[in-house]
Amino acid sequence: MDVRRMLIGGELVEAANGRTFEVVDPCRVETVGRVPQAGPEDVDRAVAAARRAFDEGPWPGMPAEERARLLLDVADRLEARQDELMALESRQSGIPIRKTTLMDIPVGLEMFRAMVRASLRVARYEPLPWIDFPAVSWNFVLREPVGVCAGICAWNFPWLFTMWKSAPALAMGNTLVLKPASYTPLTALEFARACVEAGLPPGVVNVVTGGGGTVGAALCEHPGVDKVSFTGSTEVGREVQQRAAATVKRVTLELGGKSPNIVLPDADLALAVDGALFAAFFNAGQACEAGTRLLLHEAIHDEFLERLRERVRLVRVGDTADFETTMGPVITEGQRRKVEEYIRSAREEGATLLCGGGRPKDVPPGWFVEPTVFAGVTPGMRIFREEIFGPVLAVTRFGTLDEAVALANDTTYGLAAAVWSRDTLGALDLARRIRAGTVWINDYHLINADAPFGGYKQSGRGRELGRYGLEEYTEIKHVHVDQIGPDRDRKFWFDYVMNRE
Ligand code: NAD
Repeated sequence: MDVRRMLIGGELVEAANGRTFEVVDPCRVETVGRVPQAGPEDVDRAVAAARRAFDEGPWPGMPAEERARLLLDVADRLEARQDELMALESRQSGIPIRKTTLMDIPVGLEMFRAMVRASLRVARYEPLPWIDFPAVSWNFVLREPVGVCAGICAWNFPWLFTMWKSAPALAMGNTLVLKPASYTPLTALEFARACVEAGLPPGVVNVVTGGGGTVGAALCEHPGVDKVSFTGSTEVGREVQQRAAATVKRVTLELGGKSPNIVLPDADLALAVDGALFAAFFNAGQACEAGTRLLLHEAIHDEFLERLRERVRLVRVGDTADFETTMGPVITEGQRRKVEEYIRSAREEGATLLCGGGRPKDVPPGWFVEPTVFAGVTPGMRIFREEIFGPVLAVTRFGTLDEAVALANDTTYGLAAAVWSRDTLGALDLARRIRAGTVWINDYHLINADAPFGGYKQSGRGRELGRYGLEEYTEIKHVHVDQIGPDRDRKFWFDYVMNRE
């Protein structure tokens, strides 16, 4: 059995309690490997190592270019074994090898590099306007690292989250304790190994594998952690924020979604139909930004659904190791049960099943669900309101633009949205009226390293990626330098307020 180690203080180690847990391939239901099952004492060790590396080590004070050179070396080492990473990522997550090869691994590495390079453009010093009263003074802002950051990841894009959590935190001079999701820790441990090989100072990167309720919760409460960056469900996100509140940690939350995908009557229908499938069934629907609520204008509604039913047949569900497969299983048996429960609820609440709804035939023994589309979905139904995190698309009809906006915003979430139209200005007008962190026009899922990503409302707080994401890993320090020197007589404000003779 392949037993991996986690990274604490520059050493690849087992859990203090000696326990391990297995990682299972959701496609074949086979064990892929075993990893340490960390407990609170491992969290203490990891935070202490990160604390030491931050408080006493060279990392935060190192020239940014030198840090970037080391981090780009990590990326190069990972790229040199990307074939292995593509296979491992696919096996641990049930993401088809086609996608880990064409997208997750190379795009993740490119985003890592882009964020490291962009960190060099973040101004560490910003002058403030000239101030001459009461003191003639030179005022400026320094951007400094926050300190020890905990990165807690979801399982749906394990590699991307490893890259998204590590690059900005490290490039801005912080130290990191990374907790991958317990279903998918393997590629994060490969990242850990590359950090050791590249010679990052001990304790700068720590990767701790284990359960959310133990490792995750302990990180959120730990007084030695300064910031938590969490990606996961809204439910756990609330808990993270609560636990972090006791020590007033900085918290970034990337949470769930129920994103509207609006098709206007003047849309290019061939494009929008494939766009709607891409929006909903990408990653078997396990994407926080997935376009799970398809809002169709009544003028094109019937034709659109006809075309959608044809095109959905082209989604290749099956063995994730086959390069032709475009959709794999969901992550666990429990997740499949949850998805099937939503399918049952949609039927009971009166939605019309357009296609799918069951388990596909002739696939490996894992947790597969057919791509499923329900029409006639109304805002009262659970599948309109709740995040399913599986391949289920809910279709709702609208008549006017105001109705489309009202439906789009009728959600507690606000992560993403899309508008399909040939009228760019009209689509832009609609984009402005939608309360969401990202709006695509005539596209979907395109997240790039220079653009901010994150949610309005209960989809989160703060942003990842771009300058915005880098700045989340900084504290702002105002420095005031008095220009008049130690001239006591001129400091009349001391006397006004305090020292009246
Ligand atoms: P989850 O909330 O169950 O778990 C996320 C992470 O938190 C895991 O590492 C887990 O071990 C850990 N965790 C669990 N309990 C914890 C606790 N009490 N304290 C601290 N950490 C804890 O989410 P998931 O099932 O892994 O992922 C699916 C969810 O993530 C969906 O809701 C999805 O929308 C969301 N998500 C959001 C984004 C985004 O960027 N907005 C991206 C991907 C996934």
